[in-house]
Amino acid sequence: MQTIDRYNFRNKKAIIRVDFNVPLDKQTFAVTDDTRIRGALPTINKILADGGAVILMSHLGRPKGVEEKYSLKHVIGRLSELTGKTVLFADDCAGESAKTKAASLKSGEILLLENLRFYAEEEGKPRLPDTATDEEKKAAKAELKSKQKEFAKLLSGYADVYVNDAFGTAHRAHASTALIADCFSAENKMFGYLINSELAAMDKVLNSNEKPFTAIMGGAKVSDKILIIENLLNRVQNLIIGGGMTYTFMKAQGGQIGKSLCENDKLDLALEILKKAKEKGVKVYLPTDAVNADTFDANASIKVSKADETPDGWMGLDIGEDTIKTFGEVIAGSKTVLWNGPMGVFEFEKFSKGTSAIAQAVANATANGAFSLIGGGDSVAAINKNKLADKVSYVSTGGGAMLEYMEGKELPGIKAIRG
Ligand code: AMP
Repeated sequence: MQTIDRYNFRNKKAIIRVDFNVPLDKQTFAVTDDTRIRGALPTINKILADGGAVILMSHLGRPKGVEEKYSLKHVIGRLSELTGKTVLFADDCAGESAKTKAASLKSGEILLLENLRFYAEEEGKPRLPDTATDEEKKAAKAELKSKQKEFAKLLSGYADVYVNDAFGTAHRAHASTALIADCFSAENKMFGYLINSELAAMDKVLNSNEKPFTAIMGGAKVSDKILIIENLLNRVQNLIIGGGMTYTFMKAQGGQIGKSLCENDKLDLALEILKKAKEKGVKVYLPTDAVNADTFDANASIKVSKADETPDGWMGLDIGEDTIKTFGEVIAGSKTVLWNGPMGVFEFEKFSKGTSAIAQAVANATANGAFSLIGGGDSVAAINKNKLADKVSYVSTGGGAMLEYMEGKELPGIKAIRG
């Protein structure tokens, strides 16, 4: 497999799939968080420093066609500031402007292409009215599939080499993330630095011999996390469960959960997980106490109870002090830590204490030599909110992609290059 470090980009045009799906101000369209743009800089800078030319392609949002608010032109200003270069722009990623601008692009120059998802070919999902019949949907999908290959081929024609650095979309088999790789020889396709570091962090955790390995799983639902939990049961020594999914486990074991979040169709599954964990010698830590609310509201009244004795009419929205202490001790004694999902409704200040305490415990364990990986949108938001991003080993940028990789799935964008 080719690597970016080995490759000399001198006099080469590189087309890079980046993830510039950044949040924009609704009125001014200014970039409000440039983390993803900064994430692509090491790859861009290496290519420019080698004496190559850079063509950047990305999606932005979920447009249903050409939509001004999703134009990548909104990113030009920030990209230009961060690279210190003029950024050329092609206002149609598959039109004449892209073709001619790419053809005349010189070493040291950057060309940004307009949003790939302005074309349905990128995702291969037909854009049909809701009234379309199943037959029509099937036919449109088949037609789009062959067009998708042509679209990928067209994009590949702009450059000599393909670099995929968009980890956030690596779990999608899209034209620019997977199909395009087939248009380049093995020597001329590779991952960028961001994907490399994501893979290194995830592989380090998945194959870790540094024990104990503790997985902290939180968030809303068991159903979203079941596959990752099952995969992790083969690897971890400790499994900490918090957040809304706690209550499915509590109810399954006969606890009283008041009106806490619960997936009644997943009660058997919860028991199955506990049984499997026992068989595999994995210690499962569930909350022992909880901070309950009378309504799902930032200003709700609070009542603390045992986690399996939620009073009638109340709902558990955060872990309690005893739980914070127990979870904190387990984390402190860990050598490898994976954290996905908040311990409570951390968006409400009153119910954010448990999540903040866990964030701090993970940071402390890291300071004591543990390797810690944080992934999934909300745990990343929680780490950032507590200003601890630089106190943990790695914060993943790819929510869905990270989850699928940790579930043991093959990601199309990774397979397309790794084989
Ligand atoms: P996920 O995307 O599955 O990681 O879930 C994150 C969401 O779970 C956040 O928006 C939290 O507010 C929510 N959450 C965490 N704990 C609870 C809880 N005890 N009850 C309801 N929602 C929760």
